[in-house]
Amino acid sequence: MKNIVDEREKSIRRTVLIVDDEEINREILGFMVGGEYDVIYAENGRVALEIINEKRNVLSLILLDLLMPEIDGYEVLKTLKRDPALKRIPVIVLTSEKNAEVESLKLGAVDFIPKPYDIPDVILARISRSIELAEDRYILNSTETDPLTGLYIKEFFFIHADRYKRFVSDGKTDAIVVNVNKLHLINELKGRACGDAVLVGIASKIKDLAKEAGGLACRFAGDCFYIYADSQSDETYSEWTDELAAAANAITHDLRLTVRIGIYRSDDENEIIEQIFDRATIACNSIRQHGVKFAVYDGKMREKEVYGERLLADFPNALSEKQFKVYYQPKYAVKGEKPKICSAEALVRWIHPELGFISPAAFIPLLENNGLISELDKYVWKTAAEFVGRTKRERGVAVPVSVNVSRVDLYISDLPELLAKTAEESGIESKELYLEITESAYSENSDRIIEVVGQLREKGFIIEMDDFGSGYSSLNTLADLPIDVLKLDMRFIRNICEREKDHMLVKLMIDAAKVMEIPTVAEGVETEEQLELLKADGCDIVQGYYFSKPLPEEAYVELLKREG
Ligand code: C2E
Ligand code: MG
Ligand code: MG
Repeated sequence: MKNIVDEREKSIRRTVLIVDDEEINREILGFMVGGEYDVIYAENGRVALEIINEKRNVLSLILLDLLMPEIDGYEVLKTLKRDPALKRIPVIVLTSEKNAEVESLKLGAVDFIPKPYDIPDVILARISRSIELAEDRYILNSTETDPLTGLYIKEFFFIHADRYKRFVSDGKTDAIVVNVNKLHLINELKGRACGDAVLVGIASKIKDLAKEAGGLACRFAGDCFYIYADSQSDETYSEWTDELAAAANAITHDLRLTVRIGIYRSDDENEIIEQIFDRATIACNSIRQHGVKFAVYDGKMREKEVYGERLLADFPNALSEKQFKVYYQPKYAVKGEKPKICSAEALVRWIHPELGFISPAAFIPLLENNGLISELDKYVWKTAAEFVGRTKRERGVAVPVSVNVSRVDLYISDLPELLAKTAEESGIESKELYLEITESAYSENSDRIIEVVGQLREKGFIIEMDDFGSGYSSLNTLADLPIDVLKLDMRFIRNICEREKDHMLVKLMIDAAKVMEIPTVAEGVETEEQLELLKADGCDIVQGYYFSKPLPEEAYVELLKREG
């Protein structure tokens, strides 16, 4: 397997300018190098400078005679040296005068070919080496690389990968995405400098692996790297994950880091480079299970991708045609004698005319990633607020509803005003519309989130932290966060009766909420045993299939009438 730089030499034809006043010399040299390079000729320094100026972006090297009429080789060298844009073109001097060597090197020539000419292979080797050195230096000096890791930045990576695809690769190439799991934990617990050191360690290993596989690599974003290289076996990829994790753990000894790799095996030369990396990313993101190290993009993922594209295309129509329905799942206060509905969570469903009932797991993340979620959420907020308003007028008192606020929504510039207006226009008070914000939103950009959430509370909204325990806020930092209700992540509740560890964690979280004097909601409660355990632990509110699944509006109203 060849390194890309070597391959690059052979596959992309470079252009060489031969400058000599003797026609016979030009012909001999042209004959020697013409097989490997495109050749342009100049019969003196003046013509040479004109060509150099005109073709500065095309020329890879100049072969320059020193003694010529009009403008000689020394003058050409001096002119090139003065112009930063021309300086990058390497010049090899051709002369029969031994003592001209030092002077021309001083003026910036990179090498020297004595006349009469050597055997062609020696000359070709000198030319190719000079070009290679100059190109490598150019790549290193330019802004093509990430200052921290020295790998390409993504824009240039795509350019080079595309070239590699067209000129170098002779068949099977893989797009590979490497993700460092939980790197932000290192940043938070050990400081940014340590996080940076881990990235540098991993990048250096990635560079080696890419080189061995005949390819190239870039740092795509924070903790994500791309490699484009000759296709490797599954075993090799498995080894890569171990080697990369080892490189990371050599720096942080006590916190064990892992990496996951997503692979797209590409054999169609017409595929677009960005797209094949999107697919490798899909494969990478599909890895959720602990212990799984790499995943290869497959037919199932393709189907999901096509399905996602369909949903995105159908979304605008679906919204205007009201294909989205808001369901309500009651939450029960369980402290008293008898459980009693105290509020409900609004959960959206897509009733698609052709695809049928679509659950939010299939479209919420998709809409979030494509910046469309806020349009849907605004619709859900309005629908839910109007519903609370209607029941309030009928019953005389409001039964609050909580709505989900996506992390993306927190960037809506006038979010507090918008929500306040929604409540007001529906005839309800802000405190009758609860806002569920998922815990992971807090760890993403905490300063901004804390500021917005503070403004929402000032407007009177009640903030529930959703899915607590799934993200990374510790119980320590919880006290500093602006929240009014703690909603425990369903994953802990699922196993509280079977796994003592999960039960202990839930109890700990309930106790922490007590210290903060805020109520806890347990969601995903499915059995009586779970309910009894949570009640004994002091949990205030319970939501889950045990009491009721999310219901269409009419069914929820019926339930309220029966029970409320
Ligand atoms: P979430 O906010 O944590 O909502 C709770 C999810 O748990 C709901 O899933 C609910 O149906 C489900 N669930 C409730 N009780 C049980 C139970 O006893 N057992 C089990 N297995 N599941 C239970 P759903 O409706 O599929 O929603 C999934 C997620 O989608 C929600 O998680 C929320 O993050 C998001 N979502 C739903 N509606 C909206 C919305 O209008 N806007 C936004 N931004 N996100 C939404
Ligand atoms: Mg929720
Ligand atoms: Mg939740």
